[in-house]
Amino acid sequence: MLMTLSLQTEVRMIKGVGPQRAELLAKRGIYTLEDLLAYLPFRYEDRIHFSNIRDVQPNGIYTIRAQVMSGQAIPNKFSHNAIYHLLVQDSVGGLLPCKFFHGGYLEGRLKPGQQLVLHGKVEIDKLRPARLEMINPQLEHLGNEEPDSTEVGRIVPIYEAIGTFGSRAIRRAMYAAVQLLDTGMPDFLPETLRARLGYPSRREALTHVHFPASEESLEALNTFGTSAQQRLIFEEFFLYQLSLALDRKSARKRNAVAFRVREVKVREALKRILPFKPTTAQKRVLAEIACDLEKPAPMNRLLQGDVGSGKTIVALQAAVIAIENGCQAALMAPTEILAVQHFLSARRILAPGGYRTELLISGLKSAEKTAVLERIRSGEAQLVVGTHALIEDQVQFARLGFVAIDEQHRFGVLQRKRLMDKAASHGHAPHVLVLTATPIPRTLSLTLYGDLDVSLLDELPPGRTPIRTRLSSEPHLPGVWESVRRAVEAGRQAYIVYPVIEESKLELKAAIDEYKRLSKEVFPKQSLGLLHGRLSSEEKEEVMQRFRKNEVQILVATTVVEVGVDVPNATAMVIEHAERFGLAQLHQLRGRIGRGAEKSHCILVAPGRMTEDARARLETMVRTANGFEIAETDLLLRGPGEFFGTRQSGDLGFHIANPIRDKDLLEQARREAFAFVDEAQQATALEGLLRMLPAEWQRRYHLARIG
Ligand code: ADP
Ligand code: MG
Repeated sequence: MLMTLSLQTEVRMIKGVGPQRAELLAKRGIYTLEDLLAYLPFRYEDRIHFSNIRDVQPNGIYTIRAQVMSGQAIPNKFSHNAIYHLLVQDSVGGLLPCKFFHGGYLEGRLKPGQQLVLHGKVEIDKLRPARLEMINPQLEHLGNEEPDSTEVGRIVPIYEAIGTFGSRAIRRAMYAAVQLLDTGMPDFLPETLRARLGYPSRREALTHVHFPASEESLEALNTFGTSAQQRLIFEEFFLYQLSLALDRKSARKRNAVAFRVREVKVREALKRILPFKPTTAQKRVLAEIACDLEKPAPMNRLLQGDVGSGKTIVALQAAVIAIENGCQAALMAPTEILAVQHFLSARRILAPGGYRTELLISGLKSAEKTAVLERIRSGEAQLVVGTHALIEDQVQFARLGFVAIDEQHRFGVLQRKRLMDKAASHGHAPHVLVLTATPIPRTLSLTLYGDLDVSLLDELPPGRTPIRTRLSSEPHLPGVWESVRRAVEAGRQAYIVYPVIEESKLELKAAIDEYKRLSKEVFPKQSLGLLHGRLSSEEKEEVMQRFRKNEVQILVATTVVEVGVDVPNATAMVIEHAERFGLAQLHQLRGRIGRGAEKSHCILVAPGRMTEDARARLETMVRTANGFEIAETDLLLRGPGEFFGTRQSGDLGFHIANPIRDKDLLEQARREAFAFVDEAQQATALEGLLRMLPAEWQRRYHLARIG
């Protein structure tokens, strides 16, 4: 079948996709051939040289081709999930037992004689030390017919499954997609630059990352070191940095309102709102901020401080400076819960100053929203606290002078820019303060965020007693509940957290069921509340309000409580299935307790048997509460892949590039992009490049403003 190619061809037209799979892909934001090609393998397998079962050694990782001899799920008395035992044999007679924890789903799916490719780690069988076994290998069925070249006889790409669209099927579709690429395909790197750096064309690079040549080094591929991979990484960084370079160019032309900071009136306003004595670090950081605010150029500052270090009050003080100078201020939070909480505390803290604080979230009733929007437009609203609802087109500020963005890693850089554009109406750029608990190395944040200066809150407010963290397991739950009961009887409050990572129905049901069970059987005398992401804004707010008032003593919650929630009377936290959370997430969660003077306790509940990584994560949590130390360990354990919170396409718009792993390429791309924008004779080349970029890419890198 001949097909006229366009990168915008819908995926369902590609052989091996079809309407049903196209729907699955759409959920991942994959609509076109272009999008599909950007879905890259996360690793590669050598299927030219399979390992012989006879040669495997303990702790080695192997790819084996073998057939099923027998398979059986055996119930596991330590967990509700069965262990699946599989025995396979390779073509020269080697036998290898495999174990799948949580493998109940495999029951009945593997038939004797079936051909498999297994990839995984070989370990010594703990019960029978003379025997080796493969633990939780990744499986691929080879079809019934003779396997084709997308399956064996080459280095094959392994993709993360998308729902029921498994790696093998994705690979076949990708093979068809790659065949469609023609030589006239546009290249997003300027030709002179590409030639100078010696990178392959975009088409060659895409073909290569999906179907590398057999002589390519497996190690280079798996560490993203081939020139095809490097080119695609460089390309993403280059476009991203191009956007920053263009911004810097236009920012240089921008003015900001220079605030008067030293006047008595302002100083007294600042003093009036302070509910407590600021820490030395808070004073120092405020001075750094004040110094920026006095200048007629916009502040661009990142405020880093571990959870609980007191970033909010610093942001509110900066807001007061703006308001006292006749400007409006905005505070943007990543979730509604957090926006409401910031709103309530801002209103309380700012009350002595008599300032008008508004809340803007999408959950507002329409009449209320219209009224709020009007007060923002008229300038009557002095501080506006909200979610991303703040960046909608209908929001117009009369005179926005200062913007604080909480928990930056949750927002794209693009959203930050859109908020900044809100101030353009009165001819001035706002001063911007970005608050984050994620420690990013300084050089990296400079490169990533362009011209952000960095301030550090490296001191916790006084009177905090360190949180005691311990590890527990399901059989010990009665004791865990007993300690929660004791905390509640002493007048304190508690969180019980369940993992709902994908907000899948099944997982959510587990949290809801557990809530019912706990209310009835475990804590019949206590008052419990339930908080999860599927509740409406009003329902969420109602539960939070009752928790803040101590009407709810125990809050059963999913990770929606993760960021920023501040209820100092809560001193106990139980995290169930703690092994399923990432380190950064555990740290954020735990940061919800230990906020008052009372001693706080965190109990991590996990199965006795878990992966080495999971164990290392939990042990780190028990060992330290230092956010920087935790972030470093996180980086080591997970690899840099998930450091910024999302894996695919990332908040920063990267599919393959990883700012930590590929730091050198990032720096190089930054130099090249800034030079490209600076050199006047490149103007036409720049315009040509921007015009060629597909709309989606223009949006992703915020490059749509020209052409
Ligand atoms: P984070 O940096 O995690 O956003 P918050 O701003 O929420 O931290 O502050 C954590 C808690 O510490 C809040 O209850 C806040 O009122 C309190 N706090 C902040 N600064 C001080 C201070 N200097 N003295 C006493 N308590 C403080
Ligand atoms: Mg906070």
